[in-house]
Amino acid sequence: MFQKKIKASSLLTLFALISMQSFASDLFEGKSGEIISIPAATEDKSNVLTFKTSTGTKQLVSLPFVKKDLVITRHHVNLKVNWVNFGESRITIADESKVTLSTKDQARANNEAIQIKTALSRSSTEITPSFDFIAPVPGIVTSPFGKQRFVNDLPRSAHLALDLRGAVGTPIVAPLKGKVVLIGDYFYTGLTLILDHGYGLFSSYAHMSEIKVKLNDLVEQSDEIGLVGATGRVTGPHLHWTVYFDGNKVNPESLIQEGYLNSIL
Ligand SMILES: [Zn+2]
Repeated sequence: MFQKKIKASSLLTLFALISMQSFASDLFEGKSGEIISIPAATEDKSNVLTFKTSTGTKQLVSLPFVKKDLVITRHHVNLKVNWVNFGESRITIADESKVTLSTKDQARANNEAIQIKTALSRSSTEITPSFDFIAPVPGIVTSPFGKQRFVNDLPRSAHLALDLRGAVGTPIVAPLKGKVVLIGDYFYTGLTLILDHGYGLFSSYAHMSEIKVKLNDLVEQSDEIGLVGATGRVTGPHLHWTVYFDGNKVNPESLIQEGYLNSIL
């Protein structure tokens, strides 16, 4: 009898603990490659941008690209990232040396990946991103974000950028105010430029035919930063536009929608 009582009370304690736990860790949810808002962390973090809304102070969090639904913990919350079927695309690269890399080219590509990673590792807090993006070129989307890529029938990483159509020489403008933090001529991405928009928001421009700005330049929204080209590994001229936020590549297509920030706060 005494034994039974103990068991009942431990069960009650267990239930209380479980319900406290679920209260303390609400589950937030969004799609693969999206940015969503969550209640801001209670401790003040100077490198995190916060927004005052009618439902409290919020901060933004990026959801990684996933290949199946996933629950992850980022910042101070649990997040359910919903898989999206972005489809697949098959491209043919005739120049086999750009598909199966020589030791020298592989070393070059590895070194360039490190340069890009380094540029993305620190973000300014002197620029506050408005998230009020404009499209960098007026062209239509030729390859959306998230497609599984097959190059010459071999599966490669998913396309975590947006391809915008444009003839060689089409002006590319800054979609948002930013600072030029990387300029390079790279194996895969050709003439490449990265802008830091502040607080962990970056954008990169690949395959350009010409770059019109210098390292450390501050550019305003709609300033010309370069021209569309076909440099690096491409099948034709286009702009390969990547947006990074909060440590993940995010879907640029949603960012250029009117009233984007309000729609996620
Ligand atoms: Zn692309």
